[in-house]
Amino acid sequence: MNLVDIQQAAGLSKPIRHQLFIDGKFVDAESGETLATLNPHDNSTIAEVALAGKADVDKAVAAAQRAFPKWSRLAAADRGRILLRLADLIEANGEELARLESLDTGHPIRDSRNLDVPRTAACFRYFGGMADKFQGETIPVEAGFLNYTLREPVGVVGQVVPWNFPLMFTSWKMAPALAAGNTIVMKPAEITPLSSLRIAELMAEAGLPDGVVNMVPGLGSVAGQYIAEHMDIAKVAFTGSTATGRRVIQASAGNLKKVQLELGGKGANIVFEDANLVAAVNGSAWAIFHNQGQACIAGSRLILHEKIADAFLEKFIPLAKSVRLGNPLDASTEMGPLTSALHRERVLSYVDVARAQGGEVLAGGKSPGGDLANGCYVEPTIVRAASYLDRVAQEEVFGPFVTVLTFKTDEEALQIANGTDYGLGSGLWTANLQRAHKFARELHAGMVWINSYKRVNPGSPFGGVGQSGYGREMGFDAMREYTQVKSVWVNVDAQIPPHFAR
Ligand code: NAD
Ligand code: MN
Repeated sequence: MNLVDIQQAAGLSKPIRHQLFIDGKFVDAESGETLATLNPHDNSTIAEVALAGKADVDKAVAAAQRAFPKWSRLAAADRGRILLRLADLIEANGEELARLESLDTGHPIRDSRNLDVPRTAACFRYFGGMADKFQGETIPVEAGFLNYTLREPVGVVGQVVPWNFPLMFTSWKMAPALAAGNTIVMKPAEITPLSSLRIAELMAEAGLPDGVVNMVPGLGSVAGQYIAEHMDIAKVAFTGSTATGRRVIQASAGNLKKVQLELGGKGANIVFEDANLVAAVNGSAWAIFHNQGQACIAGSRLILHEKIADAFLEKFIPLAKSVRLGNPLDASTEMGPLTSALHRERVLSYVDVARAQGGEVLAGGKSPGGDLANGCYVEPTIVRAASYLDRVAQEEVFGPFVTVLTFKTDEEALQIANGTDYGLGSGLWTANLQRAHKFARELHAGMVWINSYKRVNPGSPFGGVGQSGYGREMGFDAMREYTQVKSVWVNVDAQIPPHFAR
């Protein structure tokens, strides 16, 4: 099929964007190289997308540098207005964006429509409104002086985005950066560039000046690494694996650029004996199976009180087995394929890892056959581990793969929950108010959900501790991340004794 046929088959009326977006124009890579982006439902090629190399990143950085002075000095409200217009355009083009995202990533269309697109619009809208509300301070210093702070944009920021939520993460990264007055060189993941490229086009339509946002899909080891190293990039914001995050820090050392990292997780999802079991079962399925478990905040460790473990699993296992796997573009699909064949192999390899350490597979553990055999599908998988120190209870699998552990006491639950190097999201289900807040305090995590899981909102700080990275997306914290403080001293009428009187 050619591009036009693929578009029609997916119900897209707008052309699929497959070139780099630099200085307000769609252009080929300097090298002429392209990389096929695939539909994970059947591994067919959707488009050959221009592959950015170092020369393209240099061009993008130069464009972002040229755009910076004017963009950063625009009235904050005027920057905000463009983001608000963009949010409207995302909604107006919502169905197209949802289809494109589902086609490229495998997100079930009902999620792309009801979660990814509205959340993307909401994020741009929130930071559009934020642009002129984020402000400095005046500080009561010694008599005769006025001291105030300016929150200045950092400059050209590099943003490296992963493949699990390409559309939504585009907004999480760009919205606060733009509201604060930065200009951007963004590298989408090489396997899922399409929705970000479409957003770039909508940004131009919303009135974003040329060069303010540049989109350079390319290989992580080439374009991503080069962004992290680049001497003219003032900050790099990265979402992805902890191993790559470590590489980004090392690469950033050349010009001491600011670094913000949102890395992996191994979310603890604790169900106490007094929990509402129906709510906990449903919430736990959402925690791990939404987006095929490809979420840094997935509730991938199900930590059950031994008194209710059997009753819980009696409901949870059949629920997992009943999840409707299928073509992401089908509205009844509850779980689509993983986003790449390579990743499917990685996820499935953990079934052997589990068995090798005495783990028991309670559901799934394989790819479905039949119509789905050519896609990157993995069945919802539940594994009971012998110990919380086993690899399947420690390492991020990043798939529809949940590890079950049991505990007897609150102390033991906390020890298990905090027993990894990660510290991103975690949650607990209980009717006991005191216990809930005590765990909220004691959990080693950037986010805690009580009697729910995986809630996100543009106003609520998102990020981790430990090897889940540092810095926060969303909310006022994101604006702090994308600005630096300047302290200004004014002598109003201070009487200063001369230090070097002659
Ligand atoms: P990755 O961390 O290598 O890729 C994420 C992004 O980083 C992509 O855009 C990639 O091109 C880029 N990248 C790769 N190498 C780079 C480098 N040296 N410098 C700068 N950027 C670079 O992740 P992956 O290999 O696609 O997936 C591996 C594992 O990472 C997954 O199984 C999962 O555990 C984890 N992961 C986590 C998240 C998250 O949301 N925290 C997202 C994706 C993957
Ligand atoms: Mn793809």
